[in-house]
Amino acid sequence: MNKLWAPWRINYIRNIKQKGCVFCKGKGKDSKACVIFETDYARVMLNIFPYNNGHILVAPVRHVARLDQLKQKEVLGLFAALTKSQKLLDKVLKPNGYNIGINLSRSAGAGITGHLHIHIVPRWIGDTNFMPVLFGTKVISQSLDELRKQLKNAYAKTN
Ligand SMILES: [Zn+2]
Repeated sequence: MNKLWAPWRINYIRNIKQKGCVFCKGKGKDSKACVIFETDYARVMLNIFPYNNGHILVAPVRHVARLDQLKQKEVLGLFAALTKSQKLLDKVLKPNGYNIGINLSRSAGAGITGHLHIHIVPRWIGDTNFMPVLFGTKVISQSLDELRKQLKNAYAKTN
C-alpha cells in the first residue's frame, strides 16, 4: 500500500482549537485568500496544509458536524460544489485521479470535527515518491497563491 504523508499537518491540527472554525471564518479577512468560490450552500477552499497539490475542501456554509444534519438542498448544493471543484481541478491541474472523502470525528482522522467538509485530493501516477518516505517531507510543486488564482480564473470562465 502506498501512503501519502503530510507531516506538516500536525501544526495545523494543534492550532485548530485556538483559531476557531476555518470554514465559518472563510468569509473573514484571514482565510479569504484560501476561498476559491462560494455558493448559497457551499464554500470551497484550498487546504493550506495539503496532502497533495490542489487539495481542496468543500464545506456546507452552515456550521454542522454530521451528514444527517444537512437539509436536502444543502446536500445537493454541497455535491454540486464538489462536482464543480473537480471540474476546475481537471482543467487546471489535469490529475490522473482523485481521492474524495469525508472524515467524521477525530477517531476517523478529522482535523476539524465541528464543521463537516469533503476532501478532494488530486492524484498523479507516481505522486507517492521517495521524498516522504526518506525525509519525512513532501514536495508541493506549486504555490497556493498561484494555484488559487488559476482555480478562481477557471471558475470565473464557467459562470
Ligand atoms: Zn464552522
